[in-house]
Amino acid sequence: MSSAASHNGSAHKLVIIGSGPAGWTAAIYAARAQLDPVCYIGIPKNDPGPVLPGGQLMLTTEVENYPGFSHGITGPKMMEEFQKQAERFGTVTHMQDVVKCEFSPEPARIPHTLHIADGTVVRAHAVIIATGAVANWLGLDNEMRLARSGGGVSACAVCDGALPAFRNQPLAVIGGGDTAMEEASYLTKFGSVVYVIHRRDSLRASKIMQERFMSRPNAKVLWNKVVVDVLGGEFIEGVLLEDTVTKERSTLALKGLFIAIGHTPATKFLKGTGLEFDDAGYVALKQRNSYTNLPGVFAAGDVADGQYRQAVSAAGMGCIAALDAERWLAASNVH
Ligand SMILES: Cc1cc2nc3c(=O)[nH]c(=O)nc-3n(C[C@H](O)[C@H](O)[C@H](O)COP(=O)(O)OP(=O)(O)OC[C@H]3O[C@@H](n4cnc5c(N)ncnc54)[C@H](O)[C@@H]3O)c2cc1C
Repeated sequence: MSSAASHNGSAHKLVIIGSGPAGWTAAIYAARAQLDPVCYIGIPKNDPGPVLPGGQLMLTTEVENYPGFSHGITGPKMMEEFQKQAERFGTVTHMQDVVKCEFSPEPARIPHTLHIADGTVVRAHAVIIATGAVANWLGLDNEMRLARSGGGVSACAVCDGALPAFRNQPLAVIGGGDTAMEEASYLTKFGSVVYVIHRRDSLRASKIMQERFMSRPNAKVLWNKVVVDVLGGEFIEGVLLEDTVTKERSTLALKGLFIAIGHTPATKFLKGTGLEFDDAGYVALKQRNSYTNLPGVFAAGDVADGQYRQAVSAAGMGCIAALDAERWLAASNVH
């Protein structure tokens, strides 16, 4: 069914927005359950960091912690396999963004209406939001180059910190919140020394998280410093720092740089729809399921999870959302 056909009368049973582990897993389950899912996989953009169809794993090289790949797999290859599996069972994909949603607050007024970036309008009885959360980056050219090529720059220490390249090497984390402390504490298991580079003279992180990091013998905080460039050819060799007080510049030798300055849930296009969000801007779920506050609207993956943010947890949530949507459609007599 084409988007235009949907606008002219019939509505899709299920539209999935997003094409990371959550979106594709929801599509695999929904397609096998004969819900004829239509998946809007997004268009490449920079908002606020790089976003590609396939999601955040498109920005990494080795994924070593996803079960089933005993020797690891690259992020892009893994997402290619997810997509093939979803399409094998009949998922229809469109490389487009959903730019606006008009969700019906009452079951009687469903289908929901979705506006697509190419100007088409589609309707759907059930919608799964799986648009992820974009890691915030510093925005330096060399940072992004080395992040994309597996050159020792990452936005996820829990994902990449255990890689052999980082063992017994000097590493640094940028950030000053609880997540930065958690990532830095984790890295102290692997690095010879772990620096936290922070732009101010005090950290935003809770005292207990600060203490946990600082109690490690190989932990060091560099106060009042910003990274102005990332140095290195194929692999990171260090960073160029600037002191925020004296403006003095210095270099710091490093073999790994981890950016921990937060994530931005991809929810801009959902504002004003009546959908509820938590304090940090993630889609609020009713309980340990995928139901949102709106009927027929489900959410899965990092867009609804500010805590775990892993491929396998996102995929699990995608499965839950497809099962919830299937039951909801059956109870609503949509076949
Ligand atoms: C550098 C890096 C390395 C990582 N390494 C690992 C790892 O090794 N192991 C691990 O488990 N996790 C890793 N992660 C975390 C993992 O990538 C995420 O937890 C996971 O991708 C979340 O999946 P998701 O499906 O919820 O969202 P995402 O993967 O973020 O996918 C969201 C999708 O939604 C699309 N989208 C957004 N807005 C719209 C819209 N309006 N319309 C249509 N489409 C839209 C985007 O194009 C994107 O395809 C890493 C993250 C980063 C940043």
